[in-house]
Amino acid sequence: MDKKEYQLGDIVQMKKPHPCGTNEMEIIRMGMDIRIKCVGCKHSVLVPRTKFESKLKKVLRSTAKPEGDTADEA
Ligand SMILES: [Zn+2]
Repeated sequence: MDKKEYQLGDIVQMKKPHPCGTNEMEIIRMGMDIRIKCVGCKHSVLVPRTKFESKLKKVLRSTAKPEGDTADEA
């Protein structure tokens, strides 16, 4: 089973799209609960970490450097 890695500021895709039709959420707060904000309608929801992980489909964009892409030195 894949371990999902996500962090503050990441754009994630959930298994079910938001009712507004957008399926991109930004992680805006991390703690025992995680607050995610819909990129489309800016609506934010607070979900327990376990629930978030079960609903998370994948991380679309990470604020961290892409994995395995470190050949960017000048
Ligand atoms: Zn929305």
